[in-house]
Amino acid sequence: MSRSDFEAVIGLEVHAELRTKTKIFCSCPTDFGAEPNTQCCPICMGLPGSMPSLNRRVVELAAMAGLALHCTVSPISRTDRKQYFYPDLPKAYQISQGEVPLCRNGYLVLKTAEGERRIGISRIHIEEDAGKLMHENGKTLIDYNRSGVPLIEIVSEPHLRSGREAADYLRTLRAILVSCGVTDGKMQEGSLRCDVNVSVRPVGMKTFGVRTEIKNLNSFTFVEKAIEYEIARQIALIERGEGVRMETRRYDAVSGETVLMRRKEQAEDYRFIVEPDLPPILLTETEIEALRQCLPEFPDARAARLVREYGLAEKDARTLCQDVALGNYFEAAAKSCAYPRLVSNLLLSELLRHCDGAEFVSPVSADRLAALADLMGEGTVNSATVKKLLLRLCEGDFDPRLVVEQEDLGQIRDKAKLRTVALEVIAENPRAVADYRNGKNAALRSLQGRLMAKTGGRAEPILSEKIMKELLKEEV
Ligand code: ADP
Ligand code: MG
Ligand code: ZN
Repeated sequence: MSRSDFEAVIGLEVHAELRTKTKIFCSCPTDFGAEPNTQCCPICMGLPGSMPSLNRRVVELAAMAGLALHCTVSPISRTDRKQYFYPDLPKAYQISQGEVPLCRNGYLVLKTAEGERRIGISRIHIEEDAGKLMHENGKTLIDYNRSGVPLIEIVSEPHLRSGREAADYLRTLRAILVSCGVTDGKMQEGSLRCDVNVSVRPVGMKTFGVRTEIKNLNSFTFVEKAIEYEIARQIALIERGEGVRMETRRYDAVSGETVLMRRKEQAEDYRFIVEPDLPPILLTETEIEALRQCLPEFPDARAARLVREYGLAEKDARTLCQDVALGNYFEAAAKSCAYPRLVSNLLLSELLRHCDGAEFVSPVSADRLAALADLMGEGTVNSATVKKLLLRLCEGDFDPRLVVEQEDLGQIRDKAKLRTVALEVIAENPRAVADYRNGKNAALRSLQGRLMAKTGGRAEPILSEKIMKELLKEEV
């Protein structure tokens, strides 16, 4: 059997740190990068007798994540103690949500080569982050600044089928969460991290294979590579007749392999018990609706609206909506212009080439781009002139309509005038003329180019080409 005889089954558990000023159960700050152990108190260090109280913003942000991912948000949910011992968590339990999470039954729409796929999201729950262990010179140091930083865990259904698809899911998920302001999504700082569950089964088999879990992946590339490695490893095991064992693994970025961390003979038992120090989390319908109103317009919805409202090509609309600032700039220009498609064309095929940097910042104001599109749309200037004007606007601001008048840049649409220039071109370029008459259509473009040059790029292109063709036909 080969790789194509197997199907991979993948589910992701994504942890996202929420963008709150203070921690989940105390008022310590959540800022990243502070001196170790300068942002903690008895509550987030879990000292006996300290009492947690829930930061309401955590509930709001988690619910927004749920709404953005089409989940049902529970009007009542609760917190539980997930019990385990590890020094990064001195209480020996993590306050999380077990049986009754805040959000359930959602999905994310994934764009794939074969079309759109819905990836189910089984649950989103709130929990506290643990401290960070640092291993130095044979000693282990602990920084509790991260302890008590609010997290949501987003658990997908096992609907993903390849490393690539899992990485795309994570990219899409991150974009959604960041655009809602739920998390800053900085993977290199650990504010978004991901555990992946992987199993394989022969194509056509209905039941799942035994899965392994790869912990704590913090880049899209690692997610993709770790999964692909793991799929190959599991297939090889099965083919050798050894079978896959349930275990937790980690990804070694240097070797590109997954490495055993610990065996799990069966599912871990965390002996969840209801957290006695916190009341149930309540959210009214009105509160949930108010949060829904706070959601931004997501790229897909925005692209569909741009197609509808401005008659853009779908591909262009999607490109414009990939970057919020780019979409905003387009809309600002298109609103005050009678030719929104021209705005989009000028923006995507000309202006973008003069912009660099991660976020779109235009060197030309939206009003000026709108004015250029109007001048071109109404036929005052041709596209060559518009491109030149756009370049000049990138250097410094001016009123394009005024400059077109002052410098006489308007299109030449006078037939007699165009005819005179065309005759000159024909007289001066006998070789191109002969080529054209011998069936070389490309020669027309060169003649047309000469005509443009002679008119300073101002000839109306369609009309002048028509005149040129007529003259070429006549004077044999
Ligand atoms: P646990 O309670 O052990 O964390 P869950 O049922 O919550 O297990 O599943 C954790 C993740 O593993 C989910 O994202 C789920 O989709 C995924 N998953 C479950 N079964 C499999 C499987 N056989 N192969 C791959 N992924 C799986
Ligand atoms: Mg789990
Ligand atoms: Zn604290």
